[in-house]
Amino acid sequence: MEKETDRYIGPPTTRYAYAREFWVECPKCGKAALVLKKDLVGIGDDKLICHHCNHSEGADERLRYTAIVSRACRNCGESIEVSIPNNKEKVAELRYSCPHCHVPEVYKPANVPYRLKYSKERLADPVFGLPLWFRENVKGDTLWASNKEHLLEIRNYVTARLRERQTMRITTMVEKLPQFIKAAKNREAVLKAIERMLKK
Ligand SMILES: [Zn+2]
Ligand SMILES: [Zn+2]
Repeated sequence: MEKETDRYIGPPTTRYAYAREFWVECPKCGKAALVLKKDLVGIGDDKLICHHCNHSEGADERLRYTAIVSRACRNCGESIEVSIPNNKEKVAELRYSCPHCHVPEVYKPANVPYRLKYSKERLADPVFGLPLWFRENVKGDTLWASNKEHLLEIRNYVTARLRERQTMRITTMVEKLPQFIKAAKNREAVLKAIERMLKK
């Protein structure tokens, strides 16, 4: 018989519940900082806050535009493709000489918004692109968590011996965990990695 305490009794939360707060490496002091994501889509009032060095920035400060002109030259009809990234403001007009006939013209470019990211790393927060704070190697795989709550929830799950499907309606965060975390043979290594992260 399984004891009641061995059952996984975590909440039937989806991964989106862990998509609003991210613990990351602070770009200034390298310690743990927080990224707070207000909206799941869009830029919102997303913020980076470090309680170690008091560094903070808003996601809107990292908003940039790529000015794009893609059309036929008014003078010679050959195609013109211009793409100028990293503008802090929208570019209203762009003076550009055709590479074919060399006649300069003023064009109204399209402005495509994007956010400057700190890194192209895969295990990073979705707003600033800062490396996640909770990352540990487990036998060649990387165990990661968005925040402490997420990490503790993974620990609860791995600790529990009996895993039950929480609900038939939604897919819970723990059911989506990669196989190396769920594998019984890795249980000890996973729990050790989680302890290392909690001590960081
Ligand atoms: Zn800092
Ligand atoms: Zn031309």
